[in-house]
Amino acid sequence: MTQVITSNPTDFIRDIIDDDLQTNKNDGRVATRFPPEPNGYIHIGHAKSVCLNFGIAGQYQGTCNLRLDDTDPLGESMEYVESIIRDVRWLGFDWSDRLFYASDYFEKLYQFAVELIKSGNAYVCSLNADEVREQRGTFTEPGKESPYRNRSVEENLDMFQRMRAGEFADGAHTLRAKIDMASPNIVMRDPVIYRIKREPHYRTATKWVIYPMYDFAHCLSDALEGITYSICTLEFENNRPLYDWIVGKLITGSRPRQIEFARLNLSYTVLSKRRLIELVKKDYVQGWDDPRMPTVTGMRRRGYTPEAIRKFCAQIGVAKNDNLIDVALLEHCVREDLNDRAPRAMCVLRPLRVVIDNYPENQVEQFECANHPQNPEMGTREVPFSRVLYIERDDFHENPPKKYHRLGPGREVRLRNAYVIKFENMVLDERTGEVVELHCTYDPQTRNAPPADGRKVPGVIHWVSAQQCVPAEVRLYDRLFNIEDPGSEGEEFIDHLNPNSLDILTTCYVETNLKNAEPGSQYQFERLGYFCVDMDTVAGKPVFNRVVQLRDSWAKIAGSEKN
Ligand code: ATP
Ligand code: MG
Repeated sequence: MTQVITSNPTDFIRDIIDDDLQTNKNDGRVATRFPPEPNGYIHIGHAKSVCLNFGIAGQYQGTCNLRLDDTDPLGESMEYVESIIRDVRWLGFDWSDRLFYASDYFEKLYQFAVELIKSGNAYVCSLNADEVREQRGTFTEPGKESPYRNRSVEENLDMFQRMRAGEFADGAHTLRAKIDMASPNIVMRDPVIYRIKREPHYRTATKWVIYPMYDFAHCLSDALEGITYSICTLEFENNRPLYDWIVGKLITGSRPRQIEFARLNLSYTVLSKRRLIELVKKDYVQGWDDPRMPTVTGMRRRGYTPEAIRKFCAQIGVAKNDNLIDVALLEHCVREDLNDRAPRAMCVLRPLRVVIDNYPENQVEQFECANHPQNPEMGTREVPFSRVLYIERDDFHENPPKKYHRLGPGREVRLRNAYVIKFENMVLDERTGEVVELHCTYDPQTRNAPPADGRKVPGVIHWVSAQQCVPAEVRLYDRLFNIEDPGSEGEEFIDHLNPNSLDILTTCYVETNLKNAEPGSQYQFERLGYFCVDMDTVAGKPVFNRVVQLRDSWAKIAGSEKN
């Protein structure tokens, strides 16, 4: 499954760049940008775009700007800006001093609009939004020309200036590009490029009451920054002629080129900002950084690493057709990355008390355990062993099913890194009949050695010493949605929330070494999966998030495992 990622990937966008470099287009300059709108936190789909834009810049000794595309005051905020800056940096990318805001271009964009009016390429239209829509036509019928289309340049300039001055109500007038109401491409039918919106902007406050539309602001922002490749997602394909039209009318010399690629769609996940905002605002999750969220901040809190996310983005590559990527691939990348870097430790999620009857009352042995089975340079740690232990409730079965190799009446099992123990008897809760304690004996000859008589003990389970362990809370996450494509058309995505996406276990125990584990650090809990110390941790009481499960067939055989 693992694929070697070459440092210089190829795809159709890089092919275009290679061709341009051959002809010395843009004097050999490669300039890209990542242009998020600060109206939400960025997610794994944005990460794909970040990796692509910054990756190309890095590969071609070019530049990649971080531009906040903040031309629509509704819903934009500094909180989002700060989160985007933090998240892109955390993903491992650097824009040096090239942090830009489209809102810094408002005056320039206004002047560009004036220029369009002067050249007869834009007019103030006084139809309302419904009328504009009605007159736009359909795929099969051309649109109708606005009665205001032939206003004089002077009148247009005057009206536009008064729009800016705040003389009119929201929606009373718009500025439209004068292109072609009969164009087969609806986008080209005199699109609105400025509208009146009396909405304070998080950076320009009340200075502006007119705001440029995306199609107008984006291409010109690209041009102002000297961008050579304006890489965006496929839904902008129909807008490319408009992009080129605007840039063609207003920019001389080297012009940016828009290239579309397929957005990332991920199974069991929604990636539209509108939907993610709804999850947060309506408290379906606990915030943007809820570890179940596909946001960068959520994935970070969950315990994903930037390396794993970058590797995932490299593996999925860049294509021209939309598709749905299996979220299992992302989990696979995370697991592979953590397998290399996460130290091993033992944790018992659902404890069952075990007393080793023949082990001396007050004895404590320290077992030296490797922190990583394949990386000796990660060192060792001492794990205490004593007479009373906790094992996983699931690792004991009163009536063991077939192929169950763990503890049961009359059976033996190996305690990982320690001895072989044998079941002797069990204590039941008088009322419920539930097993509350096991009594076992240990075989002193088996410390890290097979039984001397050659008998086989196939099962190995994890444990912690009851006296020397730390109580912990462990949060088990599952997918947020229980259908493959909750974001597809016609799905009410909220109806498909997985009611079991979070299981909080408050009575877990981890080995003493993790008492002061650093928030943000990851461990592999033997046999359970990868876990990350959550920021809710308070001194002495760690809280762990399950990052991903280990994919072990063992869990399937037991059948009873939910983890
Ligand atoms: P919405 O989901 O509301 O359409 P958006 O996700 O497009 O918003 P932007 O802030 O405009 O939000 O996105 C910034 C950049 O990230 C854009 O260039 C956009 O094309 C890219 N991007 C957004 N979503 C994805 C995705 N799922 N896959 C790849 N790139 C994406
Ligand atoms: Mg967008």
